[in-house]
Amino acid sequence: MKLNEMPRTHLAHLPTPLEDASKLAAEIGLPRLYIKRDDCTGLATGGNKARKLEFLMADAQAQGAKVVMTCGGSQSNHARQTAAAACKLGMKCVIYLADPFPTTFEGNLVLDSILDAEMKFYPSMDYDDLLRVMEADGKELAAQGIKSYYIPVGGSSPVGALGYAAGMQEIAGQLKVLGAENADIVFGVGSSGTLAGMILGRELFLPESRLVGISVSRDSFQCMQRARKIARQAAELIDADVTIADDCAEVHDQYVGEDYAIPTQEGKDAILLTARTEGVILDPVYTGKAMAGLIDLARKGEIGGDKPVVFWHTGGAAGLFAFHELFRDEAERLASENAI
Ligand SMILES: *Cc1c(COP(=O)(O)O)cnc(C)c1O
Repeated sequence: MKLNEMPRTHLAHLPTPLEDASKLAAEIGLPRLYIKRDDCTGLATGGNKARKLEFLMADAQAQGAKVVMTCGGSQSNHARQTAAAACKLGMKCVIYLADPFPTTFEGNLVLDSILDAEMKFYPSMDYDDLLRVMEADGKELAAQGIKSYYIPVGGSSPVGALGYAAGMQEIAGQLKVLGAENADIVFGVGSSGTLAGMILGRELFLPESRLVGISVSRDSFQCMQRARKIARQAAELIDADVTIADDCAEVHDQYVGEDYAIPTQEGKDAILLTARTEGVILDPVYTGKAMAGLIDLARKGEIGGDKPVVFWHTGGAAGLFAFHELFRDEAERLASENAI
């Protein structure tokens, strides 16, 4: 097994803290709750893509790429962190966004602009279409002698997933100190590369833990299918002799709501509760929905009990600022309160 020998570029602030969240725990009836602070990975405000990019950008460098291309929605946290990594490593970044040209450049788009990322908007395309557009642009660059590197949506390739296999190695050490290696680990699932890396890392470093993914878009079956495939390919990259069984993780898809990136009431409530008990900021697209899932599963007794629970915070705060209207009622109430 050669995870620790794979090409890796230092981009993230690691290890991220594993913090006690006892006030929130008491509020939702859990005896022990910790938050793994991957919102503090750095790289243009933090988030889970920094861990994947350490391996992806090293791969891009090894291939001699001068341009890195990736895709996502216009509030993509992944695109923003890729743009930051490209700046640091002296590469050009082009991001392909499956959304209309925005009326206002908010949230992550502000950071993308500051980070000098070329932004291309394709309102009527899905990520498969965008991949074809990226490939065509890559060929054009190649004809000019410029090598490019594509990163799939969310950085969810086998190489990217290694970031979370290494993340599991990191948290295994932290949980050991706390005597909490049998924790239920809860986190948001989007393009499933984070889940894939955790599945591999669990096999290698933390076999007593249980992985509880909360989908923010696809159904559970699709998430698990994607994740298991990426995990197997990632295992091959590092010559890890593991079997990725059907029950290596679980994904709950009942907290998505109407659709990806459409806020839910439960997600909003989870954002307010987490902020007001722990001072920790979640977002409406990923971590708010993931925490809504954690709270519901805890209240139903499906996680926790005699086992510790970890909420793996995957970031997303930069996107929050594109959702300021969601908190307008709170702002107005607080601005007219007269308690003091
Ligand atoms: C991308 C992202 C996720 C989901 O990670 P995947 O690897 O795409 O499943 C979760 N939270 C935040 C904040 C993200 O940006």
